[in-house]
Amino acid sequence: MASAPTPVPADSGIRVRFCPSPTGNPHVGLVRTALFNWAFARHHQGTLVLRIEDTDAARDSEESYTALLDSLRWLGLDWDEGPEVGGPHPPYRQSQRMDLYADVVRRLKEAGHAYDCYCSTEELDARREAARAAGRPSGYDGHCRELTAAQVAAYTAEGRSPVVRFRMPDKVITFTDLVRGELSFSPENVPDYGIVRANGAPLYTLVNPVDDAAMGITHVLRGEDLLSSTPRQIALYEALTELGLAKYTPSFGHLPYVMGEGNKKLSKRDPESSLNLYRERGFLPEGLLNYLSLLGWSFSADRDVFSKDEMVAKFDIGDVNANPARFDLKKAEAINADHIRLLDPAAFAEACGPWLQAPYAPWAPEDFDEAAWQAIAPYAQTRLTVLSDITANVDFLFLPEPADDEASWAKAMKEGSDALLRTAREKLGDADWSSPEALKEAVLAAGEAHGLKLGKAQAPVRVAVTGRTVGLPLFESLQVLGRERSLARIDRALARLAG
Ligand code: GLU
Ligand code: ZN
Repeated sequence: MASAPTPVPADSGIRVRFCPSPTGNPHVGLVRTALFNWAFARHHQGTLVLRIEDTDAARDSEESYTALLDSLRWLGLDWDEGPEVGGPHPPYRQSQRMDLYADVVRRLKEAGHAYDCYCSTEELDARREAARAAGRPSGYDGHCRELTAAQVAAYTAEGRSPVVRFRMPDKVITFTDLVRGELSFSPENVPDYGIVRANGAPLYTLVNPVDDAAMGITHVLRGEDLLSSTPRQIALYEALTELGLAKYTPSFGHLPYVMGEGNKKLSKRDPESSLNLYRERGFLPEGLLNYLSLLGWSFSADRDVFSKDEMVAKFDIGDVNANPARFDLKKAEAINADHIRLLDPAAFAEACGPWLQAPYAPWAPEDFDEAAWQAIAPYAQTRLTVLSDITANVDFLFLPEPADDEASWAKAMKEGSDALLRTAREKLGDADWSSPEALKEAVLAAGEAHGLKLGKAQAPVRVAVTGRTVGLPLFESLQVLGRERSLARIDRALARLAG
């Protein structure tokens, strides 16, 4: 056994990988890992490999694979080698690389780095319990390391199918984590581990480092949950190097945990970790990526809103913090709002597109009025937090009648509101509709006539015209809706108040 891992040569170009398993929907933790690998590759003008780790037929799905690629594209996280773009190390889906794994397992066994283990689950459990009771390390005890031919024959005659285990070297494994610094693992804590199931299916523990070696990966950046597999993989790398199947052992950096509500680890099952949720709510890809980059990294002490290009220019894996990061939805929304403000007005109007159509928009497509949309969009751009809020903010323009929100009615329509609305209708009827300022004067004057300040006077007008107490600036909204329709809506409200 080689005594130390062969380090990455200084002149090899940086090659990182993002290697998701296609199970379930893309989640926040996964995207954070993809983003850090992408930014690291782009910062160093390196190569990002996308590899699909679909060796678990029971859990992997084609829908999930498609959703992953679609999400990466939506986020603008492009890859240099992998599915759909190709590259020098195909195929990039592990389900298509089974022959390679079988060959590697054969060679590891021949060289004595791996062996068949016939222990049953019950036997393993019993020995683990006994070791625990005796205060000894409770991992796999090496029982099958040196089986004789007769023992193997006996197990086979009993109908047992073996798993394949990797033989860990009897030494401390030390490496310098790019985020956490030097880490050491003693052999009693890293027992021989399974690399092939009894049914012949190779495991993550094997296929992930075998492919990293085959694809010349120089840096492995992944979540802290995988830290315990790193000493095993380093030992496997040494064996692969000895067999001529790896050129060097990559550097490893483990990204901090992301904590959710109640300081619990954010799990991929938590609803707030679903990427689709953010996409459907109308987060901008730039806004979401900006926020996710702050989960373990920071741009500078006094700035937390920046573009992808700015992130790339500054990203250094050595600046990633080892402490758990907290997922803060309010902060994510605030950052997204900032990115909405930063959009060029035409890009904002365009980005709202999906929420101005079915299934989000409640109006008939033919009632959509492009000129009215273009006129109102600038007022929305300075106010929205997420793009999906646009629908409720502009529906009053495209619905034949406002979508009356009953809570808003109850709040705004008080005793005397009918009198106020009558006066407002009269003053608005006489106003100059080419100026929002003039419309404001009209409502102000109506309020004065009833002893009401502007805020109190405009609430019933707003609810009458838009159906809600909150929305875009009222006088600009009235102007865009137009004189006839606005006055007709006040009439309609008066009729409703008259019961
Ligand atoms: N397929 C593994 C996962 O999604 C990759 C882990 C790694 O980056 O090594 O958890
Ligand atoms: Zn065994």
